[in-house]
Amino acid sequence: EVYLDNSATTRVRKEVIEKMVEVLENEYGNPSSLHLKGYQAEKLMKEARENVAKLINGDIEGIVFTSGGTESNNLALIGVAESLRKKGNHIISSAIEHPSVLNVLKYLEENGFEVTYLTVDKTGKVDVKDLKRAITDKTILISIMAVNNEIGTIEPIEEIGEIAKERGIIFHVDATQAVGKINIDVKKQNLDMISLSSHKIHGPKGVGALYIDKSVKIRPIIFGGGQEKNLRSGTENMPGIVGFGVASKLAKENFHGNVSKLMTLKKRLYQGIVSEIKDVHLNGPNVEEGAPHILNISFAGVRGEVLLHALEEKGIYVSTGSACSSKKKGQSHVLKAIGLKEDLIESAIRFSIGIFNTEEEIDYTISVLEEKVNFLRKYKRR
Ligand code: PMP
Repeated sequence: EVYLDNSATTRVRKEVIEKMVEVLENEYGNPSSLHLKGYQAEKLMKEARENVAKLINGDIEGIVFTSGGTESNNLALIGVAESLRKKGNHIISSAIEHPSVLNVLKYLEENGFEVTYLTVDKTGKVDVKDLKRAITDKTILISIMAVNNEIGTIEPIEEIGEIAKERGIIFHVDATQAVGKINIDVKKQNLDMISLSSHKIHGPKGVGALYIDKSVKIRPIIFGGGQEKNLRSGTENMPGIVGFGVASKLAKENFHGNVSKLMTLKKRLYQGIVSEIKDVHLNGPNVEEGAPHILNISFAGVRGEVLLHALEEKGIYVSTGSACSSKKKGQSHVLKAIGLKEDLIESAIRFSIGIFNTEEEIDYTISVLEEKVNFLRKYKRR
């Protein structure tokens, strides 16, 4: 098996599984309980909180555990919009955000908010000048992703952070695809809120966090017993949170090694593809400028979905577009936004590399790709 779909999700690390099993078996206490069993659970949660906070250079108190990137995005956008409704009703975002941002913005538009969607250039980048121009005295929130999940574009979040700070506007960043892959530092980059997801960094699914700077006024979207500083009620997902903590700790410790490994493998894959196969088109930023784990390529004349299944026959797993949109009808809004022609959108494949991949797997993938693409192109002509 060659798993090249690490932007969809990643394999859970052994160290994470071991700690989670220990929690499931022994540390079954409720962190809200007043007795020792509750206290022990609370201690484990605190350790996880510290590890997640360290990964992004944030304050421990800023971490609110959620069910994942999707919930974090919902909480950030709805929570701030509702709390600042009196101050203004204008939000700035981009055309290439994840559906868990775009569909929340749609909901907010139906409820009296106005949203400016910044366009992107052919590499997927927003223009900071456009952002400056879009700001009005009604602007309460800017939400821009750090790394695009389909084409790997790295957005200029540090520059945007500075502008937002100057103008007193809250800046939210969907950093789901960014942590562990590019440097994320909420202090240095002036990020008021960032969304994180555990299963993209070799932790379990169904858990994530929203980091919230103490200056941000936000309302909950889930009401109940008041856990997580009243921002996310419900008994905490202890095994998930503890697993996320271990995954965060390992992501931080191995950051530089992981990034250089991912980038080396990505370059090897790209160079192999362009030297062995004709008529290929790189979608998104230049290989060295994009996130180290995402490579999106169109193989002209071959339907992405057909190639995906041809690769699957040889044990290689990739995506067309993103996992969340590829099962649905309709073309990738990201590839449309970068101005890619329809036939090339239909031929796009996203390879997303992980820390468990090897050079041998990359070389095998290149040779299978060459064989399958040539076969499918010939077959099409007949
Ligand atoms: N944002 C981005 C950029 C993502 O790639 C994803 C996962 N596909 C999410 C948000 C949602 O995260 P989760 O799966 O944890 O809900």
